Amino acid sequence: MKAGAVFPGKRKLEVVSLAEPEVSAPSQVKLRMLQVGVCGTDREIANFDYGIAPEGFEFLVLGHESLGEVVETGPEVSRVRPGDLVVPTVRRPCSHLACAACRAGQPDFCYTGDFRERGIKQQHGFMTDFVVDDEKYLHLVPAELRDVAILVEPLTIAEKALIQINSIQQRLPWGCPWSPGKPPGHCHRAVVLGAGPVGLLGAMALVNAGFETYVYSREVSPDPRAVLPESFGARYVSSQSVPVQGLAAQVGNIDVVYEAAGSPQAAFDLLEVLGTDAVFCFTGVPRHGNPLSIDASSLLRNLVLKNQVILGTVNAGHDAFESAIRDLGAFNGRWPDTVRSLITGRYPLEEFREPIFSIEGIKNIVLMDGKR
Ligand code: BGC
Repeated sequence: MKAGAVFPGKRKLEVVSLAEPEVSAPSQVKLRMLQVGVCGTDREIANFDYGIAPEGFEFLVLGHESLGEVVETGPEVSRVRPGDLVVPTVRRPCSHLACAACRAGQPDFCYTGDFRERGIKQQHGFMTDFVVDDEKYLHLVPAELRDVAILVEPLTIAEKALIQINSIQQRLPWGCPWSPGKPPGHCHRAVVLGAGPVGLLGAMALVNAGFETYVYSREVSPDPRAVLPESFGARYVSSQSVPVQGLAAQVGNIDVVYEAAGSPQAAFDLLEVLGTDAVFCFTGVPRHGNPLSIDASSLLRNLVLKNQVILGTVNAGHDAFESAIRDLGAFNGRWPDTVRSLITGRYPLEEFREPIFSIEGIKNIVLMDGKR
């Protein structure tokens, strides 16, 4: 079978041939990969800035955003059957007994850093024809989401952030009663920084959770990233024409910032106008760059005097995958055309370098099954 791989030592990208994996343990599942999405992390790996091959290999098979179809199951597998669609998680736990997070099944909070990530760190990814994985890492996707389910993994980043934000904001019991039947953020205002796939999917999740949502980014209309937010009930404000103070004047108290731009300057500018009792959640991973000069005393004064919380979040656990699949179904019901328009480029495996380096479009994917 074929796979899209990076050779970190030789600094090259190539389609390689690999032996087809077989089910060799009772809880394993064999998947035919259907689609693989590419993102900024793949670009970093393809630029040889990041990415570690598994032990004994000089290459790493790429791909961590994926959709597969079950083709075979081991005798102890009970949750999935041949023909089912599944999205696997990305991170695999470290082996240290003392890592409470990994032992509790939450390697997204791994303490040791010895976790592995499929397609990123020490374990081959999904940009290949067949994959074998343990049932416990697979999330079942309804058949009607087949053409958009490749968005599940990027959406999990936002879902984990929302889970964290909701639990932090339980400290404000009077703010938004998390009452049954009402979405959790119904009386809050959120700003999403960045209008890439992780930003736009996060904005949809916030709108769906009842937040009054603003997307703040560089793009200007008619760029689709500037136009799309209005189609699902968010407001778009371009940083090219409105400085952060203008944004804050429009929004009022900014209760939540969901950062998905990976731009330190833009993030610290926005932090200056974060509201009272608010949360600023970072998800973007900036490249190493020149140090910034910031007004630390006014940021720290705000942090204390306004009861603010700043947090970072990476990767996602099972709860976030389940929420992402549920929310994608909701988005698909409410805004079917918008969800589809996020997937802008489809490429065969032989051309896997194109979507990785392309700066065009929103979400580019590789079609492993050759179907467009
Ligand atoms: C992936 C995460 C991963 C992170 C760091 C992101 O692109 O979505 O699953 O943990 O990169 O490697």
